Amino acid sequence: MNNTCDYIDLAVSGVRSLRPYQPGKPEDELAREYGVSDIVKLASNENPLGPPPAAVTAVRDSLQGLARYPDGGGYQLRQVLAERLAVSADTITLGNGSNDVLELLARAYLNEQTEAVFSEHAFAVYYLATQAVGAIQRIAAAQGDNQTMAYGHDLAAFSALLSDRTRIVLIANPNNPTGTWLSSDALQAFIAAVPADVLVVVDEAYFEYVDAPDYASALPLLARYDNLVVTRTFSKAYGLAGLRVGYCVSNPQVADVLNRVRQPFNVNLPALAGAVAALDDTDYLARSLTLNTAGLEQLRQGFDRLGLRYLASQANFLCVDVGRRGDQVFQALLPKGIIVRPVGNYGLPNFIRVSVGLEHENTRFLTALEQVLQ
Ligand SMILES: *Cc1c(COP(=O)(O)O)cnc(C)c1O
Repeated sequence: MNNTCDYIDLAVSGVRSLRPYQPGKPEDELAREYGVSDIVKLASNENPLGPPPAAVTAVRDSLQGLARYPDGGGYQLRQVLAERLAVSADTITLGNGSNDVLELLARAYLNEQTEAVFSEHAFAVYYLATQAVGAIQRIAAAQGDNQTMAYGHDLAAFSALLSDRTRIVLIANPNNPTGTWLSSDALQAFIAAVPADVLVVVDEAYFEYVDAPDYASALPLLARYDNLVVTRTFSKAYGLAGLRVGYCVSNPQVADVLNRVRQPFNVNLPALAGAVAALDDTDYLARSLTLNTAGLEQLRQGFDRLGLRYLASQANFLCVDVGRRGDQVFQALLPKGIIVRPVGNYGLPNFIRVSVGLEHENTRFLTALEQVLQ
């Protein structure tokens, strides 16, 4: 390269050392590279049912309005959410995916002098969002391999890392890529012990799927803890990953701050319309959850048959120990038209993460996996 200047070096320090997010391999790319068709993508924890029919209609109906800017305040979606969640609308901040909300929190509350705490094996966006603003990252060691919640968050390790410089704690419940979760008792005790000037962000991207009796959403705790922020998304159980809509619920002052830093029109017009409609499509959500329960069972039985160990999960995916390098298993599955996610970059080199698919997709994956491991 003949640049007169090194434009990597010129970037601000957090960005200079940033490693970009590695998304699931797109189906089109696999089709191009291997000439395979009939691809099964179980790599991004997407809803295998496709989008909610009501949302598709609403998105289509919204398209005539595309010449205009969307409602920058997202009034209607925030009203509907406020009603559903029994919170006031001024506690809700909409984002271009909940990813956007996490970035807004980092931008508003972190800088080079302050610290963010999150777990080993946690969702990659926590690293990205906090690194981009140059914050100091304190990584809490996860639960040991021999624990019931192996590789899950260890809140005692979080507590030990809190300091005067901590501004944000990021907790995924359940976590991705492990699927592990925290009991409501443990989480509440943790939040209660965190100083008021530390925001506790509880990422509930998968909460709709959870049926563990010891789990509860942190949302009701917002009434008691001003420093709590709960994030949610339409990308998983609501089947709208391609639209990019998420939100957080927080103290109104935090929402006020996030509103200052967000792009004026961060959620687009079809996305606002689709999300409102999705909330009303209760039949779709029910079908999604039923399918997920059956699919998890199918995958667990398949792994049991193959003698493979998988982590405790309350989400729409399983993280399974393949007893060898996960990226090699990922590669070997590609020519068979199966896309899963290697998680070596999450510190889990011998695991792959597989999202729950339709029954026949899970079957194809399990058959291909058996062949690859032979
Ligand atoms: C998928 C996921 C999200 C959602 O991201 P969006 O930007 O809303 O699509 C958030 N947190 C975790 C832990 C996830 O796995």
